[in-house]
Amino acid sequence: LYVEQGLGEGQTIPLVRDQAHYLFGVMRMAVGDPVLVFNGRDGEWYCEISIANKRNGELVCCKQTKPLQMPPDLWLCFAPIKKARTDFIVEKAAEMGAARIVPVATEFTNSERIRQDRLQAHAVEAAEQCGGTYVPEVAELTKLERLLTEWPDGRQLMFCDEAEVGAAKQLAASSAKQWAILIGPEGGFSEGERAKLKSLPFAHVVSLGPRILRADTAAVAAMTIWQQALGD
Ligand code: SAM
Repeated sequence: LYVEQGLGEGQTIPLVRDQAHYLFGVMRMAVGDPVLVFNGRDGEWYCEISIANKRNGELVCCKQTKPLQMPPDLWLCFAPIKKARTDFIVEKAAEMGAARIVPVATEFTNSERIRQDRLQAHAVEAAEQCGGTYVPEVAELTKLERLLTEWPDGRQLMFCDEAEVGAAKQLAASSAKQWAILIGPEGGFSEGERAKLKSLPFAHVVSLGPRILRADTAAVAAMTIWQQALGD
C-alpha cells in the first residue's frame, strides 16, 4: 500500500477513504491484519491495522521489511501520445525502474497537455504492483528545446531514432552513471530536431532495429536495451 506519510517504528498512519475502502471493503481485512506499506522514501514497512472503519482507519508501523531501493539514475523522456498509450508508457517505465519520467513536447507531439497527477498516480500503482520501494517522479510537460538547454552536466542521452541504422553497441562501453532515453511522438522527430540532437556531445543516437516501432513499444524496447547494456 502506498502512503504519503513518513514511515518509522511506532508511527501511526491514518487511512483516507479510498484506502479504507480497499483494505476493509475489497480485501475484507480487519484490526490486527498485516499490510506492507511504502512511501517511495523510507523503504517497505510491515504495518498492522489498528482501526478499521468503513470510511477511515489507521495502521501502526512495526518493522522495516526492505530498505529504499533506488533504481539506476535513468530518465525516460518521451513525447506524449494518445491517452491510453501514454498511460502505458508511464506504467512500464515505473515497472522497469526509471528514476524519473519526463513528458516532452516536440514539434510533432500529438498532445499538448498532460494530466501530470493522473500519470503520477499510474507510476504509484505500477510501483505498488511490482513490489518496488521507489516511485519515479513524473515531471511536467517540458519543451524539447528547454529540456536540452537545461540539460544537466554529465547525463548521457540515448536518442532513439528509427532513421538510424545499426544497434546500440557502443552504449555498453560507457562508464557514465546518469542516463536518459528519448522517444519521439507518432510522427517521429523533425529534421531540425534530429540535426540538433545529433550535434549534442552527450547524445548517442540509437536504432531499435529495422522496423518502425510504435512509440510505446519503442519506450519498452529502449529501456530493455539500456538495462541490458548499462543497468544493474
Ligand atoms: N507511428 C507510430 C506510432 O504511432 O507510434 C510510430 C512512431 S515512432 C516514429 C515513435 C518514436 O519511437 C520515434 O521517434 C523513435 O524515438 C522511436 N522508434 C520507433 N522505432 C524505432 C527504431 N527502429 N529505432 C529507434 N527508435 C525508434
